[in-house]
Amino acid sequence: MSYLKSVIDSIKAMEASFGLDADFIKYLLSYEKVIEVAVPLVRNNKLSIFPGWRVQHNSLLGYYKGGIRFADNLDLDIMKALALEMTLKCALADLPYGGAKGGIKVDPKKLTQDELEKLSRQYLKKIAEDIGPFKDIPAPDINTNDLIMSWMQDEFKKSLKINGKNKSFAHLIKASFTGKPIKKGGLKGREQATGFGGNVILDKLINDLALEKQKLNIAVQGFGNVGYWFCHFAYKNGYRIVSVSDSRGAIIVNSTNSSFNPDLLLECKRQKGMLSGCYCIGSVCDLSYGKTIKQEELIALNVDILVLAAVEGVINIDNVDQVKAKIIIELANGAVTNKAEEKLTSKGKIVLPDILANAGGVIASYFEWLANIQNLQLSKEKVFMMLTDRLTKIFKEVSDLASRHKISFKKAALLLALTRLQTAFLKKFKLKI
Ligand code: NAD
Repeated sequence: MSYLKSVIDSIKAMEASFGLDADFIKYLLSYEKVIEVAVPLVRNNKLSIFPGWRVQHNSLLGYYKGGIRFADNLDLDIMKALALEMTLKCALADLPYGGAKGGIKVDPKKLTQDELEKLSRQYLKKIAEDIGPFKDIPAPDINTNDLIMSWMQDEFKKSLKINGKNKSFAHLIKASFTGKPIKKGGLKGREQATGFGGNVILDKLINDLALEKQKLNIAVQGFGNVGYWFCHFAYKNGYRIVSVSDSRGAIIVNSTNSSFNPDLLLECKRQKGMLSGCYCIGSVCDLSYGKTIKQEELIALNVDILVLAAVEGVINIDNVDQVKAKIIIELANGAVTNKAEEKLTSKGKIVLPDILANAGGVIASYFEWLANIQNLQLSKEKVFMMLTDRLTKIFKEVSDLASRHKISFKKAALLLALTRLQTAFLKKFKLKI
């Protein structure tokens, strides 16, 4: 089943179970604007054309907000699913944003830095009229980063034909993208925010379950930006990181009473270009401390917590029975399919859903946007404090709703998001249920 169909089905199931307004659901499942572009790039004296999109799903709660992804497997359906998820995530986090997503179908690893810059700028030119600080605010996603945001921001500025020296507009140009480099108006702590937020949510759950985090083992699929920062904070908080993987392979500690040191692991991975051989514990990396396992073995490890920080659909009906962890954290959007989530829940496992577990990223983006508009600077400590406060509140709301209706965290998070959107829908069209 496609990712989009899976998101739509879960919304329709909530409509049936909780008597949501049929017109609201019809409205939510439509798309306000879908922009399809052809992005040209000349390489070795030959023209390549890459398909690109910006999907503006819904603005019931505010300006469109969503990342820009570069990936070879993109299509319009994936873009639509991710944009719809952004609408739900922003609603759950109670942000004044609607949902959007954009991207180019390209394998960026096959481009030089110069080609990547040209492609990013060409894409932005095509969507420049449809974005802006009070319209649609993009951010980085898979295979895009702060540097790419700064190229795009520069192209956006050119498209507005505003002289860069015009100071009165400068902060509004900054507010047109989030996830920017700090010196271009980025937020201290934004890079860490999604992994940090995942940790806040995990800590709240562990606290409610009255478990001792020092005794809990974690396996993390996807040692990229989100996965690394999640590991960094979890390790600092006392959890044991016993296995990690990336697209090239997976590693595990030899003794389950020990933990990888994620910071050393990252340094080692950067030097070697892969995780294999980076068995870093304490302040030492040593070949005797760990071993390589098959990538697909990670999800089946006998750990307490499984963190999914790579891509969508990795736990599905074909492999769900292999999962032994009691707690599964969906940091990557749509990492667990609906059917797989139902199966895990029926076995008494807890799935912390994407729109809750990875909400730290978009909440920090909101702080960045607000700070840009108000021309303010926020310290990293302040950002982490504000993130913790907001995520704690959302976790409690979701957890209370789950207990009240005896439903899973995934269903409760979705119900809360849908309820907020439905209230805005009824107000907008002056309708009554
Ligand atoms: P990233 O590209 O930095 O990291 C992804 C990692 O997953 C890479 O290390 C890659 O090698 C690895 N990977 C890919 N396929 C894999 C596989 N089959 N098995 C194991 N590892 C695999 O991306 P990121 O920014 O860390 O984002 C990760 C996920 O989190 C994405 O789904 C993204 O949409 C989601 N997300 C990110 C943010 C954010 O702030 N960056 C916010 C919300 C959601």
